[in-house]
Amino acid sequence: MRDANHLLAVEDSLEELRALADTAGLEVVGEMTQKLERIEPATFIGKGKVEELKTWQSELGFEVALFDDELSPRHQRNLEQELGEKARVLDRTALILDIFAQHARTREGALQVELAQYEYRLPRLTRSWTHLVRQAGGGAGRSGTAGVGLRGPGETQLEVDRRQIRARITLLKEQLEDVRQHRQQHRAQRRRAQVPVVSIVGYTNAGKSSLLNALVDAAGAKQTLPVLTEDKLFATLDPTTRRVRLPAGKTALFTDTVGFIQKLPTQLVAAFRATLEEIEEADLLLHVVDITHPNAVEQAKAVEQTLNDLEISDIPIVIALNKIDRLEPEQREALLAGPFPHSVPISALQQINIEPLLARIEHDLYESLLPVQVRLPYRRSDLAALFHDHGRVDVERFVENAVVIEGRLPARYLAVFRPYLVKAD
Ligand code: GDP
Ligand code: MG
Repeated sequence: MRDANHLLAVEDSLEELRALADTAGLEVVGEMTQKLERIEPATFIGKGKVEELKTWQSELGFEVALFDDELSPRHQRNLEQELGEKARVLDRTALILDIFAQHARTREGALQVELAQYEYRLPRLTRSWTHLVRQAGGGAGRSGTAGVGLRGPGETQLEVDRRQIRARITLLKEQLEDVRQHRQQHRAQRRRAQVPVVSIVGYTNAGKSSLLNALVDAAGAKQTLPVLTEDKLFATLDPTTRRVRLPAGKTALFTDTVGFIQKLPTQLVAAFRATLEEIEEADLLLHVVDITHPNAVEQAKAVEQTLNDLEISDIPIVIALNKIDRLEPEQREALLAGPFPHSVPISALQQINIEPLLARIEHDLYESLLPVQVRLPYRRSDLAALFHDHGRVDVERFVENAVVIEGRLPARYLAVFRPYLVKAD
């Protein structure tokens, strides 16, 4: 169920919700929509709709009522009361959190999911809820439909009172901070090595992980395990990094990231800082678009919007239009006149155009120069020297305790200078 007023058409958003439900292991037995003039304060949907839902419950015996829009704790509570004990009420956020819980593989990923789940559940923790939780049972509840939305923190933990949950949240944050310190050190080492970092971003299922595998293959490198690809939403949660040799012999590190999706609440996005920090510190973003998807343009917009929300706007982007193996030759030609004029059409699966894509990336990283203005404190004279050696200095001014340099820099140095950026466009 959902209301209007979003990026995707109702039908498309519901189709995506179906895919999410499928990924979480739910079987969809029915669907209903309601056009709402305004949200019903008590139950989100109108009275008549609630009655309809109850009728469906007794006829179909569904176990979960899934809403495409975010429900307030109050909506959720009242709807669950209406439906009685046989059915639970979940929204898109809870479902996505559940999927995240299933897919987190590293310690950091697991910590992040647990934290996000507690933060989501804290205001929703009521007696009726914990009662249902106990019924659903089964520890972390990793299998079976009844456990969906309850994966992660187990039932006993959900039964503890709010104060204990808050204490747990504090502890999780501390542990995450520890893990992040370690990552920071890794990144600092990489930075010193001056190997540019390319973050692969894109809508979920666009083919990001497949592309990373293809890049590694194309580079002919003997690498570790292939990156998991799956026709499921959010197969990738934890960032994976691979070293790739570019056509003219330079190298770059490519990182795979979590897929973006419309209506991913920003607070939830923020919970995945591991991936996002990779994006923020990237020298270049490789935006993968599934050009065969009927909503390719809307999906690309949703990704751009998320990047904007995260205030990531000064990193150069290369767009790859993926899955062209599914297109007829004339459709492929038409792409260049389409909505993504400066993109590179590719197929990650059939390894089409991978070399040209890498060449474009190498060019943008090393050869094309971006206009920037930086203000460097005197203690960063190393960076001033770097600018002179690898960039083009147009104006250099000495101000109080700092030097301001205006000029051009290769994209691969952007990340190092980012903390000192005055302006980049
Ligand atoms: P991610 O969520 O963006 O990481 O996407 P994945 O790499 O996991 O791929 C999602 C699905 O799209 C998988 O079933 C892939 O096999 C499929 N896929 C990826 N790239 C291509 C491609 O170039 N052509 C075709 N036909 N399918 C692809
Ligand atoms: Mg992936």
